[in-house]
Amino acid sequence: MDTKAMYKLSYGLFVCTAVQGAKKNGCIINTAIQVASEPNRISIAVNKANFTHDMIKETGKCNISVISIEAKFELFKHFGFQSGRDVDKFAPDALDALATALNGSSGSAIYENAENGIPYITAGTNAYFSLKVEQEVNLGSHTLFICEPTFMTVLSQAPSCTYEYYQSNIKPKPQAVGTTSKGETIWRCRICGYEYVGEELPDDFICPICKHGKVDFEKIVR
Ligand code: FE
Repeated sequence: MDTKAMYKLSYGLFVCTAVQGAKKNGCIINTAIQVASEPNRISIAVNKANFTHDMIKETGKCNISVISIEAKFELFKHFGFQSGRDVDKFAPDALDALATALNGSSGSAIYENAENGIPYITAGTNAYFSLKVEQEVNLGSHTLFICEPTFMTVLSQAPSCTYEYYQSNIKPKPQAVGTTSKGETIWRCRICGYEYVGEELPDDFICPICKHGKVDFEKIVR
């Protein structure tokens, strides 16, 4: 069995946002798909470790902003590599730093509020959907939310960003591979590029940047 077959599946990338009370939050997902047409149904699978997951479960609502190839790595970092449990991703100062990175000007908007009261991302995206949860399926690590789209619109004509495009063109290139005097083994996170030095990567290792597990690390010998 060659588990690299998993990397041959194709995915889009999305910012999934939710609001609960005064808390606005969002995470990056790669699993929004139209799963039925009559009636129109969109499913999203959200990792239970994401705070956004709990907010969707509680409120039954979210928005999905479709990331385009114009998105910058900072968008993935901001929404994907930190948790809404620890930081307020919609705090004005955090958004200001993000706006500077994405739009080149601080104080510019990177989101607007949709009619359902939930933000959608306007920088580096080409469409958004407002979703209402119809069914939930417990899948262990993730919950599959099967949703009715209550609104959708196109924001830009830029092509959608696939997971493969993110890997090849948006994620920063790793440091040049050379040979160290010690011939150390490097394990590199496929998701964010974080590097761990050591002969064996512990089975329970979690990437400190993006929180993905050992399965997303590849061995690089330099
Ligand atoms: Fe990582």
